[in-house]
Amino acid sequence: MWSRISLEKTVHINPPPRDEKCECCGRHIKDLKPFGGRGDPVAGDFKGAILVKTYRETVPNQVSASWECRDCIVLNNADYRRKKDDEE
Ligand SMILES: [Zn+2]
Repeated sequence: MWSRISLEKTVHINPPPRDEKCECCGRHIKDLKPFGGRGDPVAGDFKGAILVKTYRETVPNQVSASWECRDCIVLNNADYRRKKDDEE
């Protein structure tokens, strides 16, 4: 199940990244558009959330939690790795 980070303070089992950056593109939450509204690619109630937790096969056969912005969360794993590599 997905969970979210927003401006509200909440406790998470997999806490959002301390640096408050998208784990894929590396942009800081202050530079990101929140989910919700026109063009929101994700079906679900993430309105107002900036990073949403999803799960990725980051290395083969290993799935881990990944906090991503609305631009990255829709990427497939191949595009995700490409984008992440570009940013690092
Ligand atoms: Zn991103």
